[in-house]
Amino acid sequence: MNPIFADMPTTIFDVVSGLARQHGAVNLGQGFPESDGPEDIRAKAAEATMAGSNQYPPMRGLPELRAAVAEHYRRFQGLDLSSEEVVVTSGATEALAASLLALVSPGDEVVLIQPMYDAYLPLVRLAGGVPRFVSLKPPAWRLTEAALAEAFSERTRVVVFNDPLNPAAHAFDEGEIALLADFCRRFDVVAVCDEVWEHVLFDGRAHHPLIAQPGMRERAVKIGSAGKIFSMTGWKVGFACAAPRLIEAVAKAHQVLTFTTPPNLQAAVAYGLAKPADHFAAMRGDFQRSRDRLAAGLKDAGFVTLASEGAYFLSIDLAASGIAVDDQTFCRRAVVEAGVAAIPVSAFYTEEAVTNVARLCFAKSDATLDAGVERLAKARLLMRGP
Ligand code: PMP
Repeated sequence: MNPIFADMPTTIFDVVSGLARQHGAVNLGQGFPESDGPEDIRAKAAEATMAGSNQYPPMRGLPELRAAVAEHYRRFQGLDLSSEEVVVTSGATEALAASLLALVSPGDEVVLIQPMYDAYLPLVRLAGGVPRFVSLKPPAWRLTEAALAEAFSERTRVVVFNDPLNPAAHAFDEGEIALLADFCRRFDVVAVCDEVWEHVLFDGRAHHPLIAQPGMRERAVKIGSAGKIFSMTGWKVGFACAAPRLIEAVAKAHQVLTFTTPPNLQAAVAYGLAKPADHFAAMRGDFQRSRDRLAAGLKDAGFVTLASEGAYFLSIDLAASGIAVDDQTFCRRAVVEAGVAAIPVSAFYTEEAVTNVARLCFAKSDATLDAGVERLAKARLLMRGP
């Protein structure tokens, strides 16, 4: 077996979900909503399945979806993209794979910002890239000039930038984005921007895409995910958007990875992206209410939580909550002994940088959240320090 895969452990999400099933646990681990997504968009997919074509759609995506993606980003983020600059992929994961395989050559250095989504590192290695890490730390998870200066070099070709950042639930501010753009320009680096959480932002925050920064239009690939935009994570429909020089390369990799993406889902996503702004505001409002319910319950149970600015996640600071064990131990014992699943944030690092944070997903019903809090309170009592 290729050593990149032979040495790779099973993803933490599968491990925790497996334990959760085995122990009948409340699953606040893996990040997927308990609800089933907007009914009208699902009806569109059903209609497209019955009345539309189910044969190979065009390789770069249905023209109506490519146009809808460009128009959506014009409307919500003020971007000026043409539909020729959009390639539809089978989930953001495929867009990430296509971008990294197309843009990284053997020996190129790639800057990865930790905590990081688990697909990045094996994809960089498959492309022959050499990873250079920037490690962000709680509670603020801030990107600093000193950390970027240590990671970027004349050999850096690509940086992967996830904003809002999973699992930290940190939305980078304009100062951090301008700083990263400055490094990309100075070192002539392409940014692969994983913006799957761009619509899931709280407390009135706006998303600031890196591609809108001066000089970044020609050196950024912006990646989105319909699964996240419409809270239907099983719909693996993603998109990569970039200037012609970059998107041509991404399209070539996409051609040999999946070639196309199911046309019925593409048609429904095109319909969904055209929905009015209040649809997206209502979605954010619902998640924000769930976030606040979980945060209040945890506070009452004696936990200290970190800020949750975006995505479906709220994290517990274990040490500040008086818990005497590290995150891996806490999560393993919580699922087995207290019947609640959480994700240890150390799994998103290559080194032991952060070992005291457990991530919880709040995209769940009130009943699930309340049951989760009750069981977490039990876990805290079991593992409380002296
Ligand atoms: N990037 C990040 C940061 C994610 O959180 C996820 C999904 N959890 C993805 C990419 C994958 O998106 P998709 O399901 O569209 O492939």
